[in-house]
Amino acid sequence: MRVLRFLGIVFIVIALAASFILFGLRYLYTDASDQKALAAAMATAVPSPTPDQTPAPTAAPTPEATAAPTETPEPTATPVPTPDPDSPEGRAITLGLPKPPEIDIGSWEFTLVNGDNSIGTYVPEQLAYLDQTAAQTDIQYDYNGNRCPVDARIAQALLDFALGCKQAGLPVFLSSGYRSYNEQVQNFQRVCQNNGVTDGKDANGHYITMPAGCSEHQLALCCDITDIYRPIKNKEIENTATFQWLKEHCAEYGFVHRFPEGKEDITGVMYEPFHFRYVGTEATAYMMENDLCLEEFLALYRDVNGPAEGAPSV
Ligand SMILES: [Zn+2]
Repeated sequence: MRVLRFLGIVFIVIALAASFILFGLRYLYTDASDQKALAAAMATAVPSPTPDQTPAPTAAPTPEATAAPTETPEPTATPVPTPDPDSPEGRAITLGLPKPPEIDIGSWEFTLVNGDNSIGTYVPEQLAYLDQTAAQTDIQYDYNGNRCPVDARIAQALLDFALGCKQAGLPVFLSSGYRSYNEQVQNFQRVCQNNGVTDGKDANGHYITMPAGCSEHQLALCCDITDIYRPIKNKEIENTATFQWLKEHCAEYGFVHRFPEGKEDITGVMYEPFHFRYVGTEATAYMMENDLCLEEFLALYRDVNGPAEGAPSV
């Protein structure tokens, strides 16, 4: 019996052990299957959307520290300097005129003589004498009362001017060149007496004869030119073919029609279609192209309240 009990106990122990082992295996198997299933599920599972990554707060873009909006420069090759408004070119621009010639405004041919600018008892350094009818081509330097005296520096230009007119088939007469201070004193008195005035001016306040010291004839850089000898020189001379030719060609010889019609308030002198003044071809061309009288031309080179820059003293 004991043997049977013993065997029974052994059997029970074995049975319990076997059950325990089987249970353990079952557990292990199930656990492995679950793990496999989980792995498979993870392999095929749609990845759950990851939450959007919150971007790291970036600093707001700081605008570049620009000082001020700069203007786009014009595509000019070289910057054009602005002329000084107090320079001849600057004054010309203000008046809507082109650049004036670069001349030595202090040179003798630009000396200004008028009612406001006296040359006192000035005497030219050297006179030359031209035939009044331009029949001869020589220039004499000894006094000759029958000839027309002018400053020697303009003698050749005046002779060429007169001969040019003559060669065009027109009569030309060099009526009056240099007059001394004393001759102008007498001339002024005579003209005033003939016109019933004492100040040398007409009813409009324009000079018909200049006081001594204020005449361009004393400067000797001018000449009254007519067709024939005329005891009275007046506006009628504008109708002569000689004046028309002289006016059209004077610039070629460096002369300007000094007292034109319409400029009387600036020159202070009545219209004189016979008085021509030498200023050189460069200045003449600019004056005529821009319809400037000598006062207007010289003003381009003059300070507002001062004398002409480098103005010659006579
Ligand atoms: Zn004159």
